[in-house]
Amino acid sequence: MPPNNMHQSLSQIISTPSCIDDYDPNSMPVAQARLFIKQFLSPVMEAEILPIRETIGRILATDISSPANVPNYDNSAMDGYAFNAEAIHMETPTALIIIGTVFAGKSFDHKVQRGECVRIMTGGMMPSGTDTVIMQESVKLEGDNITFTVAPKGKVNVRYAGEDLKLGQTVLTAGHMMRAADLGLMASLGIGQVRVYRKLKVAFFSTGDELAGVGEAIKIGQVYDSNRYTLYGMLNDIGVTVIDMGAIADKPELLEQTLLAASKQADVVITSGGVSVGEADYMKLLLAKHGQVVFWKIAMKPGRPLAYGKIGNAHYFGLPGNPVAVMVTFYQFVREAMLVLMGQPNPAALPIFNVICTEKIKKKTGRTEFQRGILFSDPDGTWKVKPTGAQGSAILSSMSLANCFIVLDETVANLEAGEVVQVQVLTGII
Ligand code: AMP
Ligand code: MG
Repeated sequence: MPPNNMHQSLSQIISTPSCIDDYDPNSMPVAQARLFIKQFLSPVMEAEILPIRETIGRILATDISSPANVPNYDNSAMDGYAFNAEAIHMETPTALIIIGTVFAGKSFDHKVQRGECVRIMTGGMMPSGTDTVIMQESVKLEGDNITFTVAPKGKVNVRYAGEDLKLGQTVLTAGHMMRAADLGLMASLGIGQVRVYRKLKVAFFSTGDELAGVGEAIKIGQVYDSNRYTLYGMLNDIGVTVIDMGAIADKPELLEQTLLAASKQADVVITSGGVSVGEADYMKLLLAKHGQVVFWKIAMKPGRPLAYGKIGNAHYFGLPGNPVAVMVTFYQFVREAMLVLMGQPNPAALPIFNVICTEKIKKKTGRTEFQRGILFSDPDGTWKVKPTGAQGSAILSSMSLANCFIVLDETVANLEAGEVVQVQVLTGII
């Protein structure tokens, strides 16, 4: 469902939330919140020219067109013998005399005549006068002659100039994320450097009086700050520059200083904890004072509450404190937003597909649940899923065990073992 507030500014929405149909901060559907955020995302504009190897994970800032035909000459697709198919038409068995050999990357200077052929290796340039290659395994070789009874169809086993890419053809478009294949593709065109958007800068900090840092002795009532580590990992996977602002106690002055410093040096600020809706906690007051931020209880589990907005020029995401909720909200909201900000106009959503769940699942309707699941290859040859076990939003080990989310939408209720569920794969995605 697209939001009806495309023309609304954040400040209008904050001051008069009722101006938007269906806007209920206490029960915001996941898809609607995602669309809501998307309309305010303004991608980075600055670009730089980098050697292709340094562009992995970056977003192209311009279209790339081919400076040449690829391949740039007709060449053989296999080891065999090149000849002119027209010249041998109807003659079976065919006998041809070998007048020379052409290796990959080499050319052959004489024009091949009727009754002649040239021994050719894969990648060898097709000699003038030839248009067809017969595989070496399909001929009988006797001295300087070959014979074959079944003539290949004309013009086979040849890779034609420009059949992969034509001169001037658009090869990659602006907004494309550079991956391993693209590095090779650029190299295959002789392109050594390309223009990409600069890296996105993302600052993040944890909030909470109860947080102890790794390496510190933990006191009664404290927990180690794990959110900064999962956030670091997830941001690193996306390929942004991370700025870790630390774990900040629930002290208004400290939080204010850190929030302002973060928003001045980063494109995006992410915090975890302290954004509970309805609680008079400091983050909420500070965000209202310094930015334009909306607070939602998203109709999802885990993952409520969530805050989104702007602090100065920086985009702001206020994630819940619970460690699993941080990861779920990152994957559902922040990841895609980050890709848009990096310069990808329409990033692919995480793939979702249907599989059988081998265990029963307890679930209430009215909210989307992201249970942690393990996709496995069943001995019957199909992929199936099972939940990781306890699903509490503080049980971070469930995320370590999981390779997917089991996505149970608002309409889904309790499920029996053997029912089909939707899964969103986490392994191998960014
Ligand atoms: P909050 O949203 O601040 O009320 O936090 C919700 C829960 O998440 C509390 O149990 C916190 O102790 C826990 N929590 C908040 N921040 C972190 C963090 N950085 N690392 C681990 N647990 C956290
Ligand atoms: Mg807290």
